Amino acid sequence: MPGAKDAISRLKKAGFRVVVVTNQPDIANGLVDPQIVAEMHAKMRAKLAIDDVRMCPHNSAAGCKCRKPKPGLLLKAAADHNIDLLESYMVGDRISDVKAGTSAGCRTIFIDRHYAETVGQEIGTDMIATSLPGAVRLILTKKSKR
Ligand SMILES: [Zn+2]
Repeated sequence: MPGAKDAISRLKKAGFRVVVVTNQPDIANGLVDPQIVAEMHAKMRAKLAIDDVRMCPHNSAAGCKCRKPKPGLLLKAAADHNIDLLESYMVGDRISDVKAGTSAGCRTIFIDRHYAETVGQEIGTDMIATSLPGAVRLILTKKSKR
């Protein structure tokens, strides 16, 4: 996404840990090789100043605890990286991202890309941005006001 690299670097400079949490149901559905997804994540980690990538490879039929909107990926990442979820932000462009963040105790920022599933929906988010750099500006503005 445009500006993502710089925005994530700004978060890191401000002292945040940055973890990507992603649903990849195409793995369980047999539509993509897990190795391809692993390579994508490795490339992302090489290019961006992120600390970790956490993935749910299951589909909704699996009933796992890690698939967003469940908060399992966030809770595990927080435990592993010693992250205070109450002082954290979940940023995402799906309602399931906002729900997972709220369930985990995070403040939430919804990036509105006007996806069909979200138009006219009650998102239940704390804040709304139009891009990842916009979301990062919100986070850093909040932080400096404390
Ligand atoms: Zn899962």
